[in-house]
Amino acid sequence: MPNYRYLGNSGLKISEITYGNWITHGSQVENDVATQCVRAALDAGITSFDTADVYANTKAEQVLGDALKGERRESLEIFTKVYWPTGPGGPNDTGLSRKHIMESINGSLTRLGTDYVDLYQAHRYDTETPLEETMQAFADLVRQGKVLYVGVSEWTADQLRAGHALAKDLGFQLISSQPQYSMLWRVIEDEVVPASKELGISQIVWSPMAQGVLSGKYLPGQPAPAGSRATDENGGARFIQRFMADDVLTAVQALKPIAAELDLSMAQLSIAWVLQNENVAAALVGASRPEQVAENVKASGVVIPAELMAKIDEVLGGVVERDPAKTAEGAPKARVA
Ligand code: NDP
Repeated sequence: MPNYRYLGNSGLKISEITYGNWITHGSQVENDVATQCVRAALDAGITSFDTADVYANTKAEQVLGDALKGERRESLEIFTKVYWPTGPGGPNDTGLSRKHIMESINGSLTRLGTDYVDLYQAHRYDTETPLEETMQAFADLVRQGKVLYVGVSEWTADQLRAGHALAKDLGFQLISSQPQYSMLWRVIEDEVVPASKELGISQIVWSPMAQGVLSGKYLPGQPAPAGSRATDENGGARFIQRFMADDVLTAVQALKPIAAELDLSMAQLSIAWVLQNENVAAALVGASRPEQVAENVKASGVVIPAELMAKIDEVLGGVVERDPAKTAEGAPKARVA
């Protein structure tokens, strides 16, 4: 059973291993396997689930909603997101305008089969909509009861500060930030994490396993294992590419003895590593097979001694990305249509 952590400065507790269904549900794996993964997550005690309207162009929300059908709603924490284009991609099918937020939440609730989401996240910062308009729309959704808490994803420290201040004026709180974070990608440590601590915001971190690379299954100079994300032509192979360089894969193999010393698999070590950061409320873990979920959840509660944390840094050396300027690197500078 995973431990629980408070999400930011709120009374909401979430399972520190949260199951996410990007890339997999609705695209990489068939619906029955997707359902088995959600069942495996529930069996392992995971109660927090993350999705987005844009995943598989809305299909991932539908798959998650179907898989959770019949579960006691009060025992689940369901997170989704808005920003990226969905549907036919019309001029208002995107971004953080009041119109798109209000329409998108209704679609998400229908697909997820619920009257409210526990956490609604701005998937990226919208450089074109006034932030006041966006935060007012979120405030209204909170008042309507369609959304219990509000968060963001891949926002910079300054954007978090501005959003947090407006939310406060409007009578609600911004409590979470969803950035990429792993042993290999630490760009949030210098700016986003200190700002978040100051504001009472937690991180829910994505790709803690660097999309599977930190499991150690990709060997330098060798073909990727069949069925893995690196072989997924529906998008997975493209997204994981950044971490598939031989120097990265070689450094990752050197983590094996450290995982063995802790009696962990490398996948478990990578998830436990992000949870050593107290500003992280949850590791957002994906899976294409139910066995992976069962394995990954055991990372909860693991304490990595300081000397092994230092050893990890030594072993990974120059392949770790720390540049804070790379925060929200992929966030569009103009709204995507
Ligand atoms: P991970 O880094 O946890 O990668 C998960 C993938 O690694 C699995 O799909 C699986 O791929 C492989 N894997 C998982 N467990 C194991 C294991 N024990 N041994 C070997 N391989 C394993 O996270 P994701 O990249 O999937 O991201 C997690 C979630 O984060 C998403 O579902 C989404 O909710 C969120 N996210 C948010 C983003 C944002 O912009 N806010 C962006 C990206 C993700 P396979 O078996 O196919 O190799």
